[in-house]
Amino acid sequence: MSGNLFDLFRSRFPADLAKAFMEVPGGRTWSYGDLEQQSGRYARALSDLGVAPGDRVAVQVEKSPEAVFLINGCLRAGAVLLPLNPAYQAGELEYFLADAEPVVVVCAPARHAELSGIAAKAGVAARVVTLGSHGDGSLPELVASAAADFVTVARDGGDLAAILYSSGTTGRPKGAMLSHDNLAANARTLHTLWGFRPGDVLLHALPIFHTHGLFVAINCVLLNGTGMIFCAKFDADEVLSLLPRATVMMGVPTFYVRLLGSPGLTADLCRGMRLFISGSAPLLVETFSEFQARTGHTILERYGMTEGGMYTSNPLDGARKPGTVGPALPDVELRVTGEDGRTLPAGEVGGIEVRGPNLFSGYWRMPEKTKAEFTADGFFRTGDVGVIDADGYVSIVGRAKDLIISGGFNVYPKEVEDAVDALDGVLESAVVGMPHPDFGEAGLAVVVPRGGAQLDGEALLRQLKGQLANFKVPKQVVVVSELPRNAMGKVQKTVLRDRYAEAWTAAMGKRA
Ligand code: AMP
Repeated sequence: MSGNLFDLFRSRFPADLAKAFMEVPGGRTWSYGDLEQQSGRYARALSDLGVAPGDRVAVQVEKSPEAVFLINGCLRAGAVLLPLNPAYQAGELEYFLADAEPVVVVCAPARHAELSGIAAKAGVAARVVTLGSHGDGSLPELVASAAADFVTVARDGGDLAAILYSSGTTGRPKGAMLSHDNLAANARTLHTLWGFRPGDVLLHALPIFHTHGLFVAINCVLLNGTGMIFCAKFDADEVLSLLPRATVMMGVPTFYVRLLGSPGLTADLCRGMRLFISGSAPLLVETFSEFQARTGHTILERYGMTEGGMYTSNPLDGARKPGTVGPALPDVELRVTGEDGRTLPAGEVGGIEVRGPNLFSGYWRMPEKTKAEFTADGFFRTGDVGVIDADGYVSIVGRAKDLIISGGFNVYPKEVEDAVDALDGVLESAVVGMPHPDFGEAGLAVVVPRGGAQLDGEALLRQLKGQLANFKVPKQVVVVSELPRNAMGKVQKTVLRDRYAEAWTAAMGKRA
């Protein structure tokens, strides 16, 4: 078996290839035999378009079964997959294409002319082909006439399988280079740790341009050789109707909040489920507890990122502690370091660093940036701030760049958010650092009321003053109906900083 990740998947296919791999609700069920045939045809079509091993293939398409075949076709052709969020617009796409220089670009039929123009502008001589969400487009036409007997290209485990641009909110996006071995290592670990077994059915409602839905979810299914229910997007009613037929669900916290918003979510509905997993953004303790009370299920929270897949997970058997992301995975080393780079003892807050076989080899064509993000002994600086408890469980305090330095003191937004969230009438909050004439920076709390609660910002601040040191208390509160989130459910703090910049400056000017 070569190091090609697809060879590993193939070795785990069920003996009976007629067994279900992917069921589209209200649509067709595709078998493992279909996956073998279709991915082979996609690999053949890509080769016919001129894709050689190591070439990049950019894929900006809607979620569909054909997209899954295409992704596996890329692996089999030895190509390097470059998944792109369908929401990306011209300027962003031009940057990605110029940076990654793909040989083939696959896009939605409606965007063919636009993408062709963007590729030309980016100076990339790529073939632009299309794939629709209903299996239409020019690539499926090529695939239909391609032979299915493609022999998967042998790869070394260290060869690149994908470049994923990190969703970083500052600076230029960076392409994380992931090898076949990186992806295989994380998939094997998660498959074992989360106890995947015969008969498991994964409910898949995540996007597939991001590591969570793309690798964490689908690779566990493929290593298990069992089926998944493949929803085009997350829709609470649809997911509720499908839960009785699934055993495992992976979601972002927003999924769980939305499911709790429906009276249809009951313990009875979930009786066939064995595991609910959450990640990509912090799961509120309240959501964790409400879900437990309503369904009897304890959500398993885990933590990771584009650059390495998963790093930590609460256990399958054993305590799943709310507000934590669990201990490091068995093959991942994780430490928390201080500003001087020294490893901190349990209980102290610092930068999270990780090392393991799942970790990417660096940022595409950014050797300097890569060097800066790795320590001399090979640990990657995640940019997350966290703390490890006496049992080895990790809690994420926030992103280092979101740290607020007010009057010279470090303020961790998470600590303040937890205090705000605990106040009467508050559902959730986000605290961001804003420029302050006296303190350099100070906190702005953006708060969402619970139900129809009427919140008075000044009253909230008065209550906080009784609970937090004065330098941690935000200087201003804005009440909103919801927080801005990206497709993965992450609160977009840069959006908040931009949105309230003027009002903040005006308010601070008046106070000064
Ligand atoms: P991405 O590269 O888009 O997957 O984003 C990774 C980032 O999401 C991490 O660096 C964390 O800041 C955040 N993240 C992922 N999982 C969790 C979690 N369970 N709790 C808190 N933050 C998380």
